Amino acid sequence: MFPGPARAALTEFVLKVHSRCDLACDHCYVYEHADQSWRRRPARMTPEVLRAAAGRIAEHATTHHLASVSVILHGGEPLLLGPERMRRTLADLRRVIDPVTRLRIGMQTNGVLLSERFCDLLAEYDVAVGVSLDGGRDANDLHRRFRNGASSHEQVLRALALLRRPAYRRLWSGLLCTVDVRNDPVGVYESLLAQEPPRIDFLLPHATWDAPPWRPETGGTAYGGWLRAVYDRWRADGRPVPVRLFDSLLSTAGGGPSGTEWLGLDPVDLAVVETDGEWEQADSLKTAYDGAPATGMTVFSHPADDVAASPGLARRRSGRAGLSGECRRCPVVDQCGGGLFAHRYGVGHFDHPSVYCADLKGLIVHVNDNPPEPAPVRLDAGLPDDLIDRLAASAGDRVAIRRLVEAQTAIVRALLRGVADGLPDGGAGADGWAALTELDRRAPGSVARVAAHPYVRAWAVDCLAGTGTGARHGPDYLGAIAAAAASDAGTPVRLAVPVRAGRLHLPTVGTVLLPEVGDDTAEVHVGPGSLRVTAGDVTVVVATGAAGDSPRWQPARALVADDVTVLLEDGDPHRDCHRLPPGERLDDAGAARWAATFEAAWGIITDEVPGHAEELRTGLRALVPLRRSGDGVSEASTARQAFGGVAATETDAGSLAVLLVHEFQHSKMNALLDICDLVDGTRPTGITVGWRPDPRPAEAVLHGIYAHAAVADIWRIRADRRIDGAQAVYRRYRDWTAEAIGALERADALTPAGSRLLRLVAHSMAQWPS
Ligand code: SF4
Repeated sequence: MFPGPARAALTEFVLKVHSRCDLACDHCYVYEHADQSWRRRPARMTPEVLRAAAGRIAEHATTHHLASVSVILHGGEPLLLGPERMRRTLADLRRVIDPVTRLRIGMQTNGVLLSERFCDLLAEYDVAVGVSLDGGRDANDLHRRFRNGASSHEQVLRALALLRRPAYRRLWSGLLCTVDVRNDPVGVYESLLAQEPPRIDFLLPHATWDAPPWRPETGGTAYGGWLRAVYDRWRADGRPVPVRLFDSLLSTAGGGPSGTEWLGLDPVDLAVVETDGEWEQADSLKTAYDGAPATGMTVFSHPADDVAASPGLARRRSGRAGLSGECRRCPVVDQCGGGLFAHRYGVGHFDHPSVYCADLKGLIVHVNDNPPEPAPVRLDAGLPDDLIDRLAASAGDRVAIRRLVEAQTAIVRALLRGVADGLPDGGAGADGWAALTELDRRAPGSVARVAAHPYVRAWAVDCLAGTGTGARHGPDYLGAIAAAAASDAGTPVRLAVPVRAGRLHLPTVGTVLLPEVGDDTAEVHVGPGSLRVTAGDVTVVVATGAAGDSPRWQPARALVADDVTVLLEDGDPHRDCHRLPPGERLDDAGAARWAATFEAAWGIITDEVPGHAEELRTGLRALVPLRRSGDGVSEASTARQAFGGVAATETDAGSLAVLLVHEFQHSKMNALLDICDLVDGTRPTGITVGWRPDPRPAEAVLHGIYAHAAVADIWRIRADRRIDGAQAVYRRYRDWTAEAIGALERADALTPAGSRLLRLVAHSMAQWPS
């Protein structure tokens, strides 16, 4: 009824290693809400259950070729296990899961029992520690007290002081704060900030339509107002720390993933194992009704695949289709996603908007209307700690791509501003820039979507350099970008836009054909679902929506597959930046062929390398058909200035799957090189590699290694499946890559960051069969 993505994998597993707690917080959903299953379960997870759970996770990671999985130790209070049992638990997890995938272990604790001994142990097993804290002492004491009513605040602050020590700082993943609207929002935010956490997350107290949240008599959207106040302060402070709730809304505003099950339409990829070995859905469902999270399966009887396919999870992985009618029609559904699933429950079903609907809607509109200043591009500020490690993961890492996308967004914004800064006052370009900045306030998601188009950056770079099609369109093309964003937002606007060679192009929207105009400037009036274009004596009106079939109008077309949409980019004049000639506009039959091949290729990618599918879903924006060369050889390319764009000649689905993964590796490498020096430019090198006859510079070799390692990985998987000829192809790519790694190491031409990336890629490959 609610089909999830084909063969979608679970990647996060919450293990209830100890189901009792040393605190008695009255807002705790484990003990104080509808589900009371904790009463009949053992207090601790036994070693047998733990090992069976670890085995199921390893089995799942192997089946789906997962680059990494997360295991979160949870309770109750996981530290009640004590150091010795904790050591055995961590050792068992690492022993069983580490050999098959990268295991990230996390823990959510109230912090009361955290000690140096525990910290040493958690450091030894590389465990990330999240601590719950609801604010300053008064705010925290509202709920987070011992059974005898005593405050836990002092003990928690002691734990945080430990985690701030240099030796343990890297363990700390952040603070988790449950909102109570009786507390002063800015006061809570500042007390959390004072602890210098690496990240803050705010949770709304679990509630349903049957058991609604407490609200003050005066405030219909008190929770939304509370979060808006925190957001405003955080924004005014220049976003001093990541706040997951706000970062998620800003990401989805730009079409990115939400990164949390609380918001957005990302498929849920989490399952819980209880102390007795029962598989359950997310803990938050405990708030709905007794037995709500149950699946009827255990780690002894069922693999994780069965849990992923269970009706409850399938619905929560079905995106928009699994939402109530009201949510599906909601203008902010892409960002809200109906809120947390548990919060939709009432009168026996989940077909409602969230019980926090009005709060969420108000918050989302407020965030969209008041976006923060773009994060500055900090080329000199070093990389996030684990970015290189994540990018080295052989099967992909969505979080890393999201970081690259954020950096690219900042770069494109800086380039657009650079173009605008060179404009004289008044004139078409200045009007376009003014419209774009106004739209950025009113419809930031639309501006973000257009600015993320690979060939907007390509235009800006050429325009600033005074070369190519960018120079030919000039700074007035800012009007085209603004008109495209206005069209996306449905906002009426009137702007001057350049026409070149009889074509007026709005990026991501389409092209108006004006052959009688040649090179000129046209006035474009963007209306709801239409464009009115006037150039000299010529006036053309085209419908841009589904009804648009004017011979003057060539709409941008999408390639759609399952849960991904990519532009079939055969109209943007700035796509000609790939060193290979782009093809002309495809006819309907050609576009349909590409659509079918892409859909089939996407099925192959999600099946063979689901981690790369996650990456591509996050970062791939456009596919440019290339003109086929005279000898009919298939070709593909990425461009340094067009992150998320891949150009390729038409091919079959299996080859397209490989080339998308291959070329996107180059896109990732280009984006990484934008923010990090990987190659020591003082050492000229010419390195011979297996895939090219001519000696290559170090940067090109690093590119090749990164891309060919991913290709080798695909063929390794195909060889595992006994696909004809796969073994030979796997060996060829593996050997080329391994030899190039050796040559690049010997050349000693990389920076420490580049060397680390190379070492990690080599380490991943060392696990592969010979
Ligand atoms: S704001 Fe309300 S109606 Fe809109 S998606 Fe969220 S819960 Fe549904």
